[in-house]
Amino acid sequence: MNNAGNNSGMLIIISGPSGSGKGTVVKALDKSRYALSVSMTTREKRAGEQEGIHYFFRTMEEFNIMREEGRLLEHAYFCGNCYGTPRDYVEQKINEGSTVVLEIEVNGALQVQAQFKNCILIFLVPPTMKELARRLVTRNTESAETIEDRLYRAEEEVELIDKYDYLVINNDVEEAVRRIDAIVAVESMKPFRSQGVVSELRNGTWHGMRIEDMCREFNTNKDEEEEGANVKAVV
Ligand code: 5GP
Repeated sequence: MNNAGNNSGMLIIISGPSGSGKGTVVKALDKSRYALSVSMTTREKRAGEQEGIHYFFRTMEEFNIMREEGRLLEHAYFCGNCYGTPRDYVEQKINEGSTVVLEIEVNGALQVQAQFKNCILIFLVPPTMKELARRLVTRNTESAETIEDRLYRAEEEVELIDKYDYLVINNDVEEAVRRIDAIVAVESMKPFRSQGVVSELRNGTWHGMRIEDMCREFNTNKDEEEEGANVKAVV
């Protein structure tokens, strides 16, 4: 079990039904504050998608090799295709102290939670199921059959909302981003995420300085200030 969060980065998982706008919201996050993981998939590239930016597009055989070698943090089958999170990037970024974002479906999210107990699970939903269907149809990237498949899958995913820490309703992309930033800000204030500060406070030191030394330094400064004031008074 990895305790991501103890003096290391944070791991944020964003899930939600296809059409909830996850991709758009994640794209709108401030890249200087978040490290976005790029997943591997066996699905066909959609128009406009780029290798290494939207996904690493791989054959089933290549995907299986990664999985068998333990190089995927999690993986799942979703509406006819396989998806997985490359392990190295996530572990490296967390060790560097970054806030890593995974945009993955629910089964994968639960696999990650089993390994990183302090990860933060956010479920993003559109305001209504009807709006979900509208978004799926109008984005025009899937066949009618795939859309129907994804809507049934959405129903199943919604059943797992209780496993998540936060629910964000995506009425408006900017507002959803503000809410995610707010969740991260609140989570970062949890004491276990600042073990260094907590142990300094407990050990009677602050930035490595002991209490006696601090008092001595303040006394010396006070004496010097008083001397300065006396000199001014005499002059
Ligand atoms: P899409 O085909 O629309 O890009 O993605 C389909 C679903 O797969 C979405 O719910 C998306 O969040 C999820 N997904 C994308 N990458 C991964 C991944 O690496 N692992 C898992 N478990 N799900 C993923």
